[in-house]
Amino acid sequence: RGTLMQGKRGLVMGVANNRSIAWAIAQACALQGAELAFTFQGEALEKRVRPLAESIGSDIVLPCDVGDDAAIDETFAQIEAKWGKLDFLVHAIGWADKQYLRGRYLDTPRDAFLQAMDISCFSFTAVSRRASALMQPGGSLLTLSYLGAERVMPHYNMMGVAKAALEASVRYMAADLGGAGIRVNAISAGPIKTLAASGIGDFSYILKWNQLNAPLERNVSTDEVGGAGLYLLSDLSSGVTGEVHHVDSGYHIVGMKNPAAPDI
Ligand code: NAD
Repeated sequence: RGTLMQGKRGLVMGVANNRSIAWAIAQACALQGAELAFTFQGEALEKRVRPLAESIGSDIVLPCDVGDDAAIDETFAQIEAKWGKLDFLVHAIGWADKQYLRGRYLDTPRDAFLQAMDISCFSFTAVSRRASALMQPGGSLLTLSYLGAERVMPHYNMMGVAKAALEASVRYMAADLGGAGIRVNAISAGPIKTLAASGIGDFSYILKWNQLNAPLERNVSTDEVGGAGLYLLSDLSSGVTGEVHHVDSGYHIVGMKNPAAPDI
């Protein structure tokens, strides 16, 4: 236990279960004294999220479908009523119709494209606008991305396009909010077996490939993403904004297959 986040209040959006990246970031912040609120999507997830929140002493657990502006407004009205201010926000939300997370990107229909963009990219802009209005200098906003934003990854398709837009939105919001002393960053995480990841075609192959070819010769854990999240949300990173920070065992620097890795 430490005191790095003592006196800071944060909203965590995107916990689905105890394997969620958002949960690992929440735990890392709670261990350093942060006070947390959570949102969940849909009643089915409430019964998973509420006990997790309670286990770290949080009783603010609110429904929020980020595809719905009224729901977002209601969430931030409640945060304002309960806390009056906000120090940090975690947006660990992504979604695309998994029917199109296989095959060719070229075949993505308009509806599926717009929904993926809306939930996986625009929602961070939408929640950041409300969150930053409750923040003082020192505020920090964080989202989650993936290397599929920068390079072509099999099956990632329109999610890669949405993550590229998400990373660009991090830079534009960092510029918008920098004058107010509020920082905006993303973590580009390596592949981790979560609920969201199970929708991606051949995910176990992607995990194996990363494990064999990343400089650290293994995959990352959600706890490691949690630690990086803690850094970006805390004052330790007070000079960092507009950044996409890779937590991927170094996989993003690799240009070719590791010649020592076995064929898979
Ligand atoms: P997860 O399934 O645990 O979390 C995804 C969350 O998004 C869930 O809590 C889900 O309820 C939420 N969500 C989806 N649509 C929503 C909506 N309309 N309104 C509100 N919430 C909604 O999986 P995860 O892997 O922890 O994903 C968190 C983030 O990390 C995502 O942005 C994902 O793209 C990103 N990411 C994941 C990996 C990986 O390999 N798991 C790698 C890099 C980046």
